[in-house]
Amino acid sequence: MFCSRLLILQEIVSHENLVKINDYFYSLIGNEKNVITVSKLAKAIDISENLAAKVLIKCRDANILCEKYSIRCPNCGLLVKRIESLEEINDDCFQCYNCDEDFFVSPKDIELLYSLVEDGKSVFIDGQQNNTSCSTAISVAPSDTLHGVLLAGGVNEYFWHFDDSKQAYFMEFLKRVKLAKGTTKKIGDTLENMTKELFKCCSAFVVSNIRTTTNQIDGFIRNKMYVPYGVFNKIGSEFIIECKNESNTPKGEYLSKMHSILTVANAGEEGKKIKFGIIVSKKKGPSTFRTLAVKYYLSNKIVIISISINELEDLISKKGNLLEMIDRKIIEIETDSTTDLKECGLYSS
Ligand SMILES: [Zn+2]
Repeated sequence: MFCSRLLILQEIVSHENLVKINDYFYSLIGNEKNVITVSKLAKAIDISENLAAKVLIKCRDANILCEKYSIRCPNCGLLVKRIESLEEINDDCFQCYNCDEDFFVSPKDIELLYSLVEDGKSVFIDGQQNNTSCSTAISVAPSDTLHGVLLAGGVNEYFWHFDDSKQAYFMEFLKRVKLAKGTTKKIGDTLENMTKELFKCCSAFVVSNIRTTTNQIDGFIRNKMYVPYGVFNKIGSEFIIECKNESNTPKGEYLSKMHSILTVANAGEEGKKIKFGIIVSKKKGPSTFRTLAVKYYLSNKIVIISISINELEDLISKKGNLLEMIDRKIIEIETDSTTDLKECGLYSS
């Protein structure tokens, strides 16, 4: 039997490995179907753990696998809690009932378990793992933790969820935003709304509006699952977005205004609290955006990037990764790069 949905893996694995992965999934019986990990897949198919992590993330995004999490005590390795969603992890301190150790959960303490989704429903039944090796194991292979998967599979790929239906939804949304005139604002076809919806495709972000005493900020984004990896290191735990709907080239002063908002927000925190902002505009920003952004980065490490609606259209039409685009744009400011990193082939989004 061959599951044609696995063909989405063609981009990253050879045909031979594709067949092996298919056979491996079909060979699993009973509770084995619910405790698939990076290290088990890598061993069974004889592929690298990096590739195995990417395969599992792709299968998760295609709803072939469902992802669950176990929190383990970093001291004794005991399974302390099983959770359905990473959002359940907050800043609370956990106490291990085995060794009494108090700890804050880090990505190294979260074990990722994948289960086969059958008939559109998960076969994962809570409690079944208790009688398997996964809960009695004293230690978990580092590659099976969230830390390991983020390192191997890539942070951008892990947190960005953009499937065919989202692509279709955003292509339509984009059309309406482009056509929208001032009066249609109330029906919601605005650049702000589209931008907010798009950022929600990153499962680590919580998008909201905030009103400060002096400024209305279009989008205030909290990185709820703050993991110190890749692009998240650069954008920090909170950042802001401003959207410019006008049909003319946005003014350079928008960037200076955002910089002053960020500077005020950071008062007394030495530029550590909010260090990142994005200006999204219908027209591409002027060249002064780049000049000012580089200057601000050099003076106080605050990074402001700009994204035009054409760039969003390109991203949506190619099913690109927004986190990868943000990553690239930040690097361009940090390195004051005169080379377009996308044109020279370093980034695809
Ligand atoms: Zn313990």
